[in-house]
Formats: sequence, structure tokens, C-alpha cells
Amino acid sequence: MPNNRITHFQREQLERAARFAEADGWELHLKVSDDERRNCAEVPVDVFFPNADEDSGERLIRAERERIAEQCRGCPVADECLAGALLRGERYGGWGGVGQPDFQRLSRIFRKLRQRGRLTEIGGEAA
Ligand code: SF4
Repeated sequence: MPNNRITHFQREQLERAARFAEADGWELHLKVSDDERRNCAEVPVDVFFPNADEDSGERLIRAERERIAEQCRGCPVADECLAGALLRGERYGGWGGVGQPDFQRLSRIFRKLRQRGRLTEIGGEAA
């Protein structure tokens, strides 16, 4: 039986993104890319596109979670980065401090909530 509960971690990320629910994902992307203060301004882009995905084992997923969280920690445009990627429907990559496996799971939940107009009232169930 699928577990549709939103985890505490997922809820925190959704709350970050929900602030930008009405924004344009591509405009957010431009804002993030143009900001030279972002942590990844000098970092090769493939750092954010690992082999680990949502089907990887939990140990790999956790390692990726920690790796990207460290990379993005304190980035001044992290919320815009995460929200923009979710709004654009990115399928791959770590965004806004959320590693690729977690991002892929989060993206599915985000899409469902958005389709149902429930993004700003994030409840306890994803489906
Ligand atoms: S949150 Fe991470 S991926 Fe996004 S702009 Fe900042 S450092 Fe780059």
C-alpha cells in the first residue's frame, strides 16, 4: 500500500516553495542564475545531477540529501531555486538544497497539490 503521508522534511520544502506558488518558474530561474551570490556560481553543474535517483536505496538517498544540503547551505536564493524548479517541472537535479532523489519525490507531491489548488494549504496527505 503506498504511503501518502508527507514527511516533515517534505512539508518544510513545500512550505518554502509555496511562497512562490504564483510565480513564473522561468523568471525565478533567471533571478537565481543572475545572482552572483549563489553558492554554486563557480560550481560545475554536474555536481547537481548525480546518479542517485528516487529509486536508489535509502542509504544513497540520505547521502545525496546531505551532500546537496551542504553544497547549498546558506545560499541566498535557495527558496527561489527550489520553487522555480518545482514550478518548471524539472525532472532531474538537486535544487534549492534538495538532492535529486528527494526532489523527484517532492516534485510529484508538489504537482498533485498544485493541480488540486492546495499548495497554500499544505495538509497532512499528498493524495
Ligand atoms: S540553492 Fe543550491 S543549486 Fe540553487 S542556486 Fe543556491 S547553491 Fe545553486
